[in-house]
Amino acid sequence: MHSTKRHVAGLTALAVTVVSAGVLALPLSSDNWGSQPHWAYAGNHDPAHWSDMDPKFTACGNGQAQSPIDLESRDAKTGKAGEFHIDYEKGAVSLVNNGHTIQANVSDAKDTVVFDGDTYHLAQFHFHAPSEHVTDGKRFPLELHFVNEDGRKVAVIGVLVKLGEKNETLAPVLNSLPATGPVSLKSTKPPVTVDLASVLPHDHKAFVYTGSLTTPPCTEGVHWIVLSEPIQMSKDQIESFTHIFPDNHRPLQKINGREIDNESE
Ligand SMILES: [Zn+2]
Repeated sequence: MHSTKRHVAGLTALAVTVVSAGVLALPLSSDNWGSQPHWAYAGNHDPAHWSDMDPKFTACGNGQAQSPIDLESRDAKTGKAGEFHIDYEKGAVSLVNNGHTIQANVSDAKDTVVFDGDTYHLAQFHFHAPSEHVTDGKRFPLELHFVNEDGRKVAVIGVLVKLGEKNETLAPVLNSLPATGPVSLKSTKPPVTVDLASVLPHDHKAFVYTGSLTTPPCTEGVHWIVLSEPIQMSKDQIESFTHIFPDNHRPLQKINGREIDNESE
């Protein structure tokens, strides 16, 4: 009798252990990244290894027109690339921490960029720390990417951020950055309203060149419009992002003879 009791107690203890292990394992298996490999900015899956992680990522390794690059005014030509016009408005964005950055999804179809006569619609903007592009030898604390799509191609507006005054326009976004994720690719926070036109610097002089997505799959043929004039954010505002993502920038890529143009809207 005594030994039977012991046996039952042993089974119960085993069952508890199994349940505990299952619960502990849950956070690792319940993320919603699907079958995408977990590329990263450091460690075994850092940018130098992206191309080895998935056959779809080969452009990250052997692409000849990759981004970001070092943009130098003295190398840029004027008026050679496509003309552009940015038409952004005030609207609601939903913030998502996707594990690689914080992304503000835009549902308003009115935000557009016209580049070379084609109209692109703003899908989302997101943050990189520090900046991915370097302009005239300078790297900035942050870079925002406004990703515009026309169904086939992508045009990205790069906005550099320097340390300075508090950015009132972006304050609603920076006050609601979701620190954790990716539990879901859907935002768990209510949308915030931001005046997207006012987020951009006053001067729309830009470096224009053809490059790639700076994250896997590093797809090429992306029209880059990197605005030369940085916007400002306070130290606290910059740190509201870097506390969550201290470093999510891809290293500089080879220019490989690509033409860089200076354009102004
Ligand atoms: Zn980006």
